[in-house]
Amino acid sequence: MLASLEWAMRARRTCPACRLTFTYCIPTSLGQCPHCAFDTETDPEDLETAA
Ligand SMILES: [Zn+2]
Repeated sequence: MLASLEWAMRARRTCPACRLTFTYCIPTSLGQCPHCAFDTETDPEDLETAA
């Protein structure tokens, strides 16, 4: 139960374009992370370290 919830939360924070997991949810309006959408550098601070 908890694992599936965490998976769902992680899916919302994973960009389908670059496959990186962020510390925040991917904007559904963009469909990808802001860095892919606007072609900007990915800030390592925004990335969730692999557990
Ligand atoms: Zn991305």
